[in-house]
Amino acid sequence: MLHYLSTRGGTAANTRIRSAEAILRGLAPDGGLFMPERIPALTRDDLKKLCGQTYPERASFLLSRFLDDYPVSELEAYARDAYGEDRFPGGAAPLHNLDGRRSVLELWHGPTCAFKDMALQMMPKLLSGSLRLTGEARTAVILVATSGDTGKAALEGFRDVPQVRILVFYPEDGVSRMQKLQMATQEGGNVGVLAISGNFDDAQTGVKSIFSDPGTADALERAGCFFSSANSINWGRLAPQIVYYVSAYCDLVTKGSIRLGDEIVFSVPTGNFGNIFAGYLAKRMGVPIRRFLCASNRNHILTDFLKTGVYDRNRPFHTTMSPSMDILISSNLERLLYTVTGSGLTSGWMTQLKENGVYRVPDAVRSSIRESFLGYYCDEAQTISAIRNTYEQFGYLIDPHTAVAVHAANRYREETGDPVPTVILSTASPYKFAGAVLSALSGSVPEDEFEALSALSHMTGTEIPAQLASLREKPVRFRTVLSPDEMTGATLSFVKTLCPSLS
Ligand SMILES: *Cc1c(COP(=O)(O)O)cnc(C)c1O
Repeated sequence: MLHYLSTRGGTAANTRIRSAEAILRGLAPDGGLFMPERIPALTRDDLKKLCGQTYPERASFLLSRFLDDYPVSELEAYARDAYGEDRFPGGAAPLHNLDGRRSVLELWHGPTCAFKDMALQMMPKLLSGSLRLTGEARTAVILVATSGDTGKAALEGFRDVPQVRILVFYPEDGVSRMQKLQMATQEGGNVGVLAISGNFDDAQTGVKSIFSDPGTADALERAGCFFSSANSINWGRLAPQIVYYVSAYCDLVTKGSIRLGDEIVFSVPTGNFGNIFAGYLAKRMGVPIRRFLCASNRNHILTDFLKTGVYDRNRPFHTTMSPSMDILISSNLERLLYTVTGSGLTSGWMTQLKENGVYRVPDAVRSSIRESFLGYYCDEAQTISAIRNTYEQFGYLIDPHTAVAVHAANRYREETGDPVPTVILSTASPYKFAGAVLSALSGSVPEDEFEALSALSHMTGTEIPAQLASLREKPVRFRTVLSPDEMTGATLSFVKTLCPSLS
């Protein structure tokens, strides 16, 4: 069986656990993230076989390599259900060809129009499975800090899942109007949504401190509940994301754009480093990927880190057109550091990050990371140009997050002349950020969000996703705004209301 370890080493006895338990716990007891003790290999024959399969078949095969304590037949059923035509009309991860050498991997055909659905349609099934596999009788309380898209995708994935409650915190002024509306109108009997007067990092720090507060954990225990997470620190989030990298590679082979064994490059709009790290795992499994372009917006802490080896979060936080990437603590970078250097150095750096907000890795570590990752960033004006140029050149609409990755792919080609086929990850539907996209294309944006959707549709002759159009009719259920220091109290009252055994 493949076991999981904490990136910070922990104590041997309680951190070497099976995948179901890693998914149940979310975070390791020492504050580290769970990683498999080795990365399963894909042979050329495996890849060849995957090329002939559907997305759900690819997903269950790849997940079974990492989650080998789940029955394969169960993983197959989960994948068919999660990635079927009713959840992802038009396919889970279709490739759109731009110009022969560049294609766009559309990861936003799911229920909430952002790529988070790729993981969060699957993860609730993995969590339900893990409750059963580990004999857990208590109710899981999922706490989520979101920069916008995770919150809605998690609410949608977990709503009315038995034995699970979910509470989402989002930064009041850090998400788009559409994102706010998506969360405020969320349906389901086991859900809660709270706005925080602060930024994403405040929300994430708040959730982390609730997780590690023994008093709160005791209160939960008495209520027959326990905490878990759906943030991209949870292995159950990360593992399903490996699939679309392999799937994109296979689709390029099947279309005849590359031959099996040829290398490709991925350009990934990056915030928490979860998406891009899943791609790195696909590379480590044996998929021929030359490198990853780590694309950041104006909050370019990762670009600087890749250039200098210094990760320094003591810097201004910018609110941008690509809010899901407005992040100064890229939690999943810890997994990369662990993979490259082991738990000893990693846990030291994470302590320095917590205490001083900064750490420096040695040159040898930086060079070894740069073999697989090059960092680029894109300011607001460049984001607007990328949206406009892509539409003018190819008649293809992209959202601001995707635009950041398009910019990185262009810069990479200018700088290196590397003609290798490049796949740009498209992480949100342009309609999810209709205001920003419209202003890039035409300059004028209607006040009303739904008029903006119609205007974008008229102008480009593309269709408004039904998931967004239907929000207009839904009543707003959640309006509360809290300060970050009220998060613990709010969590306890949420638990009190929804975990019935609490006296
Ligand atoms: C979450 C998100 C990202 C960033 O992904 P990470 O895994 O945090 O790096 C990029 N674009 C969109 C639209 C997102 O929702």
